[in-house]
Amino acid sequence: AEAFIAQVEKGRALNAFVIETPEHALAAADAADAARASGDLKPLSGVPLGIKDLFATKGYQTTAGSNMLKGFEPVYESTVSGNLFAAGAGMLGKLNMDEFAMGSSNETSVFGNVLSPWRRNDGGNAGITPGGSSGGSASAVAARLAPGVTGTDTGGSIRQPAAFTGISGIKPTYGRCSRFGMVAFASSLDQAGPMAHDVRDCAVMLEAMAGFDRKDSTSLDLPVPNWEANLSSDIRGKRIGIPKEYRIDGVPAEIDAVWEQGIAWLRDAGAEIVDVSLPHTRYALPTYYIIAPAEASSNLARYDGVRYGQRVAPENGNLTEMYEATRAAGFGAEVKRRIMIGTYVLSAGFYDAYFNQAQKVRALIARDFHQAFESVDLLLTPTAPSAAFGLGEKTADPIAMYLNDVFAVPASLAGLPAMAVPAGLDGQGLPLGLQLIGRPLDEQGVLNAALAFE
Ligand code: GLN
Repeated sequence: AEAFIAQVEKGRALNAFVIETPEHALAAADAADAARASGDLKPLSGVPLGIKDLFATKGYQTTAGSNMLKGFEPVYESTVSGNLFAAGAGMLGKLNMDEFAMGSSNETSVFGNVLSPWRRNDGGNAGITPGGSSGGSASAVAARLAPGVTGTDTGGSIRQPAAFTGISGIKPTYGRCSRFGMVAFASSLDQAGPMAHDVRDCAVMLEAMAGFDRKDSTSLDLPVPNWEANLSSDIRGKRIGIPKEYRIDGVPAEIDAVWEQGIAWLRDAGAEIVDVSLPHTRYALPTYYIIAPAEASSNLARYDGVRYGQRVAPENGNLTEMYEATRAAGFGAEVKRRIMIGTYVLSAGFYDAYFNQAQKVRALIARDFHQAFESVDLLLTPTAPSAAFGLGEKTADPIAMYLNDVFAVPASLAGLPAMAVPAGLDGQGLPLGLQLIGRPLDEQGVLNAALAFE
């Protein structure tokens, strides 16, 4: 714990942590010493973790990267962070993130962007994004400020930053991890998961994080499997599908090369490679960017200057003016854009044309996966259509930013377990990731196949 606390201090220039909580990590270390003496060590006894600032942590500021929640100290603990602490882990601090998890580069945070520890070979000191929204999480692991961290993934926010920083991260099946105490973005998509250096660390963390919780109505009432104990690199006879719709124009040849390399590794491990089709893939991105903002516009209605965080009340103003002033000052530009898009697609005149239509297309996308999984056990795709880009490169063009999520959002819409594994470097020396997507509840299959990449 002391070593990681020192690392966190040394790594401050990355802006990965928004608050540091060394006392929490040290208390867990002391508890681990006592547990060792009495012979009841827990799975994560004494392990110092970073917690994304989307998880409510009792008595510790929780902001979701937003000015709206600056200074907000929850009086309750999120189920996921509480589960990790109950398993013996301590907290090094809260991790920077895109505001309300909306973004793919960690540049929408009120605390400023996070820097990736990676640099382009020819890039001098040009800053590289760690991806987003879990950018602080990814950078902290990649720079070895923390051995493992929590992330959340609504449309790729665990997988894309993991790919950009050369680490591993898994989004489990929707419902595996409780959303209680996770600041809501798009409730039908939001899912917590671990990010760490390797598959085993992800398995250990996920086992501690997951589990039924009556405080989340969408939590799955199922026992948590022994993912770590059942890790096995024996994937002989497994059928791995390669969806042809993920071969899209404009993707650098290096991504294809890494994909081919991944296919070869799985084949060497004894898997059978099968071409499959997911015909509605190209509708996934527009569908996601209707459903996620719609749910966000509804979820973010709670920030009214009364119940949480910031309040801006103009002198002699009425209630409406207080709402307006609070929300104008509390939310950043990207969050406002999402609220406007979401409100529009849900409005009476456009509900059928947009939101309702998107819900139908979402069902078709889920059906594509269901049909593919009748003939294959897993799917292998790239995680993102590019390596990490430079800071500021896409901030002026929201559509270019959204396009980076193209390979991540289909599994989110279908609620499937999906994992990013590091698979190589591009010509600039930046990491590239591949994505394994599994059947509902088959985290074990995903984790086992991921071992082929280590
Ligand atoms: N980049 C996507 C978005 O901006 C996904 C974010 C996420 O998974 N939280 O919505």
